[in-house]
Amino acid sequence: MEEHPHNTLEYSDKVEYFDAVVLGAGISGLVSAAILSGQGCSRILLVDEYKNVGGNHLDWSSNGYTFDIGSLIFQDDSPLLAYFPELLPLYVPIKPEWARLNPQGKITAYPISVRDDIIGAGPIVIARIFASLIAARVLKRQTRNAQDFVRFWIGGYLSKRSGLESYMRRFYGVSADEIDIELAKKRMMWVSEHARIRTWVTKLTERKKGGPTNQQLARPRDGFAALYAVAVDRLSNQGVKVSLGAQIKRIVKNGHQFQMDVNGGMIAAGRIISTIPIERSVELCGLEAGPHLSTITLTSLFFSFSGNRGFSQSVIYNFSHKGDWKRLTMYSDFYGKVDDREYFGVEVIGSGPDGLAVNAEGAFRQHTQSNGMFDGDLRLEGSRTLDHAYPIYRRNAAKHAAEAIEKLRRFGVESFGRQGGFNYQPTARSSTVEAEIALQQPTSA
Ligand SMILES: Cc1cc2nc3c(=O)[nH]c(=O)nc-3n(C[C@H](O)[C@H](O)[C@H](O)COP(=O)(O)OP(=O)(O)OC[C@H]3O[C@@H](n4cnc5c(N)ncnc54)[C@H](O)[C@@H]3O)c2cc1C
Repeated sequence: MEEHPHNTLEYSDKVEYFDAVVLGAGISGLVSAAILSGQGCSRILLVDEYKNVGGNHLDWSSNGYTFDIGSLIFQDDSPLLAYFPELLPLYVPIKPEWARLNPQGKITAYPISVRDDIIGAGPIVIARIFASLIAARVLKRQTRNAQDFVRFWIGGYLSKRSGLESYMRRFYGVSADEIDIELAKKRMMWVSEHARIRTWVTKLTERKKGGPTNQQLARPRDGFAALYAVAVDRLSNQGVKVSLGAQIKRIVKNGHQFQMDVNGGMIAAGRIISTIPIERSVELCGLEAGPHLSTITLTSLFFSFSGNRGFSQSVIYNFSHKGDWKRLTMYSDFYGKVDDREYFGVEVIGSGPDGLAVNAEGAFRQHTQSNGMFDGDLRLEGSRTLDHAYPIYRRNAAKHAAEAIEKLRRFGVESFGRQGGFNYQPTARSSTVEAEIALQQPTSA
């Protein structure tokens, strides 16, 4: 059985009718509601089972420190601002520098440093890098996974020596040879771009790195609530009803109309846009579940620090072969110290019970100490775990997701976004553009 029979939900109360219901109040849901409103849809319900607006844009505060769950940086030329211009003055302008800890224990350029990873390594290493690159190009094996893709472009020796393979395992939660080739082609084009001889020559001859030309932004100092409250205000003024922390029980189809049980009341809708996890919407619609779609669970550790830090950049990626942590972000660089202490967040991939944060903390302390990164008083302020952080593309996951999305489409539900499309959207910019494409709105980017 693939679809519910055309049954109806029985309620004695009045039915509330909407032209469209948007499931999920993350960036994709907010933008979708704004687009539909602009397209003339007058009765819209934006509904989320969680209490906050902004989806994965989450923060955590304690002792006067506010941390992001993850690491979030925005830009002043984001198309999101075309829908919610009130956000712009609320952001904090920042000038972050990104770097990486390489396997040789050096904080150097992200994602690769021609000087430190290649030239500075000496003639024997250079010879090995080029021999491995030539071998990869000449043998040109079939590219079946992300590891094959990277090795083709930079050779097996450099992909290991630079720590790229270790970082990929940390990032995607599985080793690079398990990651589907479609993802590598879609999301790792930067590897092929960085690997072109022309790029290497430019990097070597450039005196100063040309940074981004747009203004980088961080959320307000106190967190995301104030930021997305103005988005909700704008939508509410346009007549969109916003329901957070809602209880959605099921969605049934009655002819061309949907009926939903929301907070114990009956909703009828002409259209449903879903930006929540695919498995959840499939379940709500009573459709048959397909193969499980694995997602990354992300643990964030929050530290304050007083002492000497062994690097000046605000964001450090862990490309070394050791340590479970993936990236750290110095929030005090953006917002200033608190009680004369710096503070930062660390992302660790993993799905673990309560013990994970404790183990992750110990491992992080040990690893950063052995690399001279924090010399002083390092204090754990707290930790948080985020489910559904991003998709794991292995074992044909993208194909299974596409099948589930098609099943929802046949039922009548339009599903897209980071969760709804099982799509690794790196930025709010990409979420906005993909919502525009899905809803056939001329792009504002
Ligand atoms: C660690 C991390 C770092 C990032 N860094 C940046 C950055 O620096 N800059 C940037 O612009 N973007 C960044 N992003 C990407 C950005 O967050 C996404 O592009 C955007 O959040 C996607 O929005 P979305 O609405 O599609 O999905 P999401 O925000 O993931 O959420 C969609 C909706 O699903 C709901 N939901 C989740 N789980 C369930 C469930 N089980 N049941 C029901 N509903 C559920 C949520 O409440 C939410 O409303 C980052 C994302 C992550 C995870």
